[in-house]
Amino acid sequence: MIFYAQEIIPSFAMNETFISTIKEKITSASSIVLIPHRSPDGDAIGACLALFHFFEQQGKKALVVTPNDFPAFLKWIPGAKQTYCFEKKAEASKKELINASLIFYLDFNSLNRVGGQMEAFLAPLTNTKVMIDHHEEPQEITSYTYSDSSMSSTCEMVYYFLQKIAPEDTISPEIATCLYTGIMTDTGSFRFPATTSNTHKVIAHLIACGANNERIHSNVYDNKSLHRLQLLGRSLNSLAVMSEFKTAYICLTREDLNPEKHRKGDTEGIVNYALSLKGVVFAVLFTEDLEQQLIKISFRSKGTFSASSFAKKHFEGGGHENAAGGRSFKDMEQTVTFFRELLPSYQNDLLSSYD
Ligand code: 5GP
Ligand code: MN
Repeated sequence: MIFYAQEIIPSFAMNETFISTIKEKITSASSIVLIPHRSPDGDAIGACLALFHFFEQQGKKALVVTPNDFPAFLKWIPGAKQTYCFEKKAEASKKELINASLIFYLDFNSLNRVGGQMEAFLAPLTNTKVMIDHHEEPQEITSYTYSDSSMSSTCEMVYYFLQKIAPEDTISPEIATCLYTGIMTDTGSFRFPATTSNTHKVIAHLIACGANNERIHSNVYDNKSLHRLQLLGRSLNSLAVMSEFKTAYICLTREDLNPEKHRKGDTEGIVNYALSLKGVVFAVLFTEDLEQQLIKISFRSKGTFSASSFAKKHFEGGGHENAAGGRSFKDMEQTVTFFRELLPSYQNDLLSSYD
């Protein structure tokens, strides 16, 4: 059975003025650039490439510019090879950005998420910018914003956005594949709390439009290098459990990562193993960054304990209630000590998080 979009579209933060204005802007645009956050995940890349295919279908010149490279497990997505990487192709990317009639920010809501030189370049650009994003506390960095932190993923929002701005257009198999990938990866394969009955209706429609669900799961999850599985082995061996706080954490040093063999995305999903331990409601992965002098931190929680508040308050980060990120500029040992010392003041919140 094919669901029609009108039946699925929930009421949300996209009013009629937003729709009609964006429609006009798109009609008159000659070139459109789509930007994901730094170290883009499946949702960010899926959202950018879905809109890339849509705009090309509309006869527009479109381009995805990623701040840095993206993981090998996402390189198979239709259109991935046509993207520009700002770090590798700075001059060509800058030219396209300056000349863009419209710039979309997808799956991020504060400019520091693109990081480095790209952030400094984008800030003063006066091109019309549009944000579609599902993180909390959006910053005013675009003229037009569609933000809803209750959504499972930016890709689910892009689906609603497309249905609103072009309800008569069909969703091509390429667009369906990109959106399915983003929803699947951001919902942990449809299991996280933000997964709703609408999410499943959208997914059903995307399969009907040509997304090959079996292949997409296999391309993303059954595509690991031996090094990546061995890294998972080392991670599990070093798992530290603090049962009095229902907390578990993993540290990955530069040596663990083995820079020569390490590929972007190799640590993706590791933190979820810490959260899969019986009784654990708060899981943390500390990873020495190979490019920048910092420790990248991933936080995951179950229940009411807010990973995003914790990340924001102590580790210059943010994200969602149950999945957030942050960073530390101390070394690994000092970072972990600092983290462990924070836990006693959260003991009650942790113990009552997932009753
Ligand atoms: P991850 O641990 O997978 O890097 O990030 C988990 C979630 O938190 C993702 O949705 C990611 O976009 C978000 N996130 C990661 N780092 C930050 C950050 O520094 N600030 C904000 N606002 N969100 C972040
Ligand atoms: Mn996302």
